[in-house]
Amino acid sequence: AKKAVLGPLVGAVDQGTSSTRFLVFNSKTAELLSHHQVEIKQEFPREGWVEQDPMEILQSVYECIEKTCEKLGQLNIDISNIKAIGVSNQRETTVVWDKLTGEPLYNAVVWLDLRTQSTVEILSKRIPGNNNFVKSKTGLPLSTYFSAVKLRWLLDNVTKVQKAVKEDRALFGTIDSWLIWSLTGGANGGVHCTDVTNASRTMLFNIHSLEWDKDLCEFFDIPMKILPNVRSSSEIYGLMKISHSLKAGALEGVPISGCLGDQSAALVGQMCFQDGQAKNTYGTGCFLLCNTGRKCVFSDHGLLTTVAYKLGRDKPVYYALEGSVAIAGAVIRWLRDNLGIIKTSEEIEKLAKEVGTSYGCYFVPAFSGLYAPYWEPSARGIICGLTQFTNKCHVAFAALEAVCFQTREILDAMNRDCGIPLSHLQVDGGMTNNKILMQLQADILYIPVVKPSMPETTALGAAMAAGAAEGVGVWSLEPEDLSAVTMERFEPQINAEESEIRYSTWKKAVMKSMGWVT
Ligand code: ADP
Repeated sequence: AKKAVLGPLVGAVDQGTSSTRFLVFNSKTAELLSHHQVEIKQEFPREGWVEQDPMEILQSVYECIEKTCEKLGQLNIDISNIKAIGVSNQRETTVVWDKLTGEPLYNAVVWLDLRTQSTVEILSKRIPGNNNFVKSKTGLPLSTYFSAVKLRWLLDNVTKVQKAVKEDRALFGTIDSWLIWSLTGGANGGVHCTDVTNASRTMLFNIHSLEWDKDLCEFFDIPMKILPNVRSSSEIYGLMKISHSLKAGALEGVPISGCLGDQSAALVGQMCFQDGQAKNTYGTGCFLLCNTGRKCVFSDHGLLTTVAYKLGRDKPVYYALEGSVAIAGAVIRWLRDNLGIIKTSEEIEKLAKEVGTSYGCYFVPAFSGLYAPYWEPSARGIICGLTQFTNKCHVAFAALEAVCFQTREILDAMNRDCGIPLSHLQVDGGMTNNKILMQLQADILYIPVVKPSMPETTALGAAMAAGAAEGVGVWSLEPEDLSAVTMERFEPQINAEESEIRYSTWKKAVMKSMGWVT
């Protein structure tokens, strides 16, 4: 067999809420050469609590790196061609660990976790000055979603954490920090850092000055000494140094030089570098981000203001408006794991196709309250409009429709905030393999939905940031790189009136989901 002529390669860790992946790209063509994926467990120790094991997350990264390197070997590709590694991760999920032993001091508290609801209520009564104190500095509403309150909970409730803070052994980080620290040596000289995009989701970071905010740390009573150093999204943070893993050691000494929260990574991977360009990612949740350029735009319609990326130490920072939906793919996982009406997530498509309609059934999956545009922690999931005729296929269809309606709500909010409506929607994420979902989405938005044929845009974004870093320089972020990207398009097929009727019934269902818990 002829051996392909390859340019330098770049690897990317994509650590998501449902799974971990490691992918290797050709830096000259952006072609995906090989990858491996491992699903990770979620624990629900109490109602509303969501945890993951940081060690399992780390092990899954090692396993994915190892398996991908094996696969590259089978393809006759020399792994010494891998010149850089990027990290992209589920955001907000909070870890505290011991810097002397490398042991996590508690499970990771996942972004979806609701245990801090009472903390949020107490804190919101104490906001100093005007109510804008948190939002004006961070771009975020005071909510259970962000890291600061999760960290507050750990400091208040976990003796091991309290003791480690007192003894100066505790480090805090989101998943990017935990991974980079561990992959660069852990207790033996690991680098404790994060990037501006991940920092902007902690509710402790000032998105104007790009520094940890003293007033916020005081307000949440967080000791600043446990926070990671904040770096740009594209620079060399450290070199791979894996002490105890076997074949992952093949990448020993390779620089880790890209870091972006998953939604920022997808924005970069979709090449949304211009003001007004947007993408929607369908994973566990659904996240619509619109690049607002160098301006920090504040929403009047329930969207967040967040750091989009800063691709180099001396490069400017870009901001985004974000519509966040907590439950998208998670509703499919729930139908699989909790109701057992499907065995794999992919089966949902077959089930929905059997009926091709929800037959008036509406499913509001407000499992973790409602995020954008409502920010309503009191909401809980409902399935309504049931008749004797309703069966599991209708429920499956309604679950897919729910994802599309939630996207419609955040897109409407985005259009209102930006003034110029989006002419089409660029999409990616695990759920976009579902063709019924994509068609429904085009019908419900009444604009075309456009999907790149290479769906791993999150990993691609992280690889681009890593490959473009100063001192690596194997990836050019120039626009001519885009021409090769092929797209799949879904055009609206139902009439606008029908689309509006369905959407207004959905809104009625949303109203019914609110106020369940007080
Ligand atoms: P994350 O980045 O949050 O880990 P992914 O982008 O990997 O998520 O997508 C995984 C999610 O997508 C899971 O919640 C899964 O249930 C859902 N999913 C995967 N394939 C399909 C499919 N064919 N149809 C509907 N949902 C799917």
